Amino acid sequence: MKTELSEKLFAKANTLFPGGVNSPVRAFKGVGGGPRFIARGKGSRLFDVDGNAYLDYVGSWGPLILGHCNPEVMREVQDAMKSGASFGAPSPREIVLAELIRERMPWVEKMRFVSSGTEATTGAIRLARGFTGRDDLVKFDGCFHGAGDSVLVKAGSGVETLGLPDSPGVPADFAKHTLTLPYNDLAAAEALFAARGGTIAAVIVEPVVGNMGVLVPRPGFLEGIHALCRKHGALFIVDEVMTGFRLAMGGACDRLGLRPDLVTFGKVIGGGLPVGAFGGRAEVMDRIAPAGPVYQSGTLSGNPMAMGAGIATLRQLTPASYERLEAASARLAEGLAAAAREAGVPVQVNRVGSMLTVFFSEQPVFDAQSARGCDTKRFSRFFHAMLEAGVYLPPSQFEAAFVSLAHSDEDVEATLDAAKVAFRAALQG
Ligand code: PMP
Repeated sequence: MKTELSEKLFAKANTLFPGGVNSPVRAFKGVGGGPRFIARGKGSRLFDVDGNAYLDYVGSWGPLILGHCNPEVMREVQDAMKSGASFGAPSPREIVLAELIRERMPWVEKMRFVSSGTEATTGAIRLARGFTGRDDLVKFDGCFHGAGDSVLVKAGSGVETLGLPDSPGVPADFAKHTLTLPYNDLAAAEALFAARGGTIAAVIVEPVVGNMGVLVPRPGFLEGIHALCRKHGALFIVDEVMTGFRLAMGGACDRLGLRPDLVTFGKVIGGGLPVGAFGGRAEVMDRIAPAGPVYQSGTLSGNPMAMGAGIATLRQLTPASYERLEAASARLAEGLAAAAREAGVPVQVNRVGSMLTVFFSEQPVFDAQSARGCDTKRFSRFFHAMLEAGVYLPPSQFEAAFVSLAHSDEDVEATLDAAKVAFRAALQG
């Protein structure tokens, strides 16, 4: 596979950006080698600047549930653009997108749009602290909630990929208010709440973890956490930046029967443009300025093009879409597990809906600790063999792969053909 142009651009990018990229995991540090510079995407495929085509299972890290260049998304964005890129004043598309969200999740009584998932979690956490008058936040080891100061503690995703401890630059005085627990361990949460429940403003959780690779919540775990929050007067924040409108029409919350106090969104609700949102009970949301005293703002919040992309995306997602995603993803997961078995490679394929991870591990993977036990060298060899065969997976063991509605049955079969060879390559070395 020819990669000269990508290499040239990466060399130049390294003189301009730290590590040559504008977001860490893009640099391929977790798997070695340099990233491919992407020229364009279409449907299920990415095309790099050297002219190579890839079946894409990253989907811009989740937003592109309809695939690249979805015609209706493109049309809505172009329509919006014709009237001006941004007004810094209310505009009608904000209401359309908000109503689409509330129709699907009526318990999200009020919401606020922002421009990224990080802003959404930052706003929700500040609101929870302002609402409860408490400072402590509980999060789970390996859950990623964006790059805000309060949540860059045992944070999964790029922090895990790069093997970084908690980030320098977050003051210790600040980080001490972030308490971490193992995912899927309700007993540990009970013990923490028993010891200091009165100081906890909120618990934030990925309902299905994507940022340590896919971790599946055990039955009763999330409900148990919510019950502890209720008992101790803390707010329960479900971070659906990745799972929202990906795992079901009503997000992971509907799929799992959760009704949190606050929820955060991003990715799919922006259809590939920069959008995030947080919302929940009106009584809580009305503490946000200008209705209330908790400050939050954004120059480009509710941007008309971004709202247009989100509107076109949500309008195309029907119950049948999720059935189709489930079927394609199940076939992919089963085929990958079978291919690994045939090649004699022990793996755990964790999947919920269209999010999945192949963990190179003999043991079940259910929390950050068990994920860290994976053979990342095998993963890297598998990743590169797949890339060479034209399949673009997330370049880290600790990320989720995403199936989109643009992936055809033939795409899935081609992926499995590539995997049969790639699993054998994973063993060599
Ligand atoms: N929360 C979760 C669960 C995420 O997966 C992400 C991004 N991967 C974020 C928050 C942060 O979103 P953004 O990158 O848009 O700031």
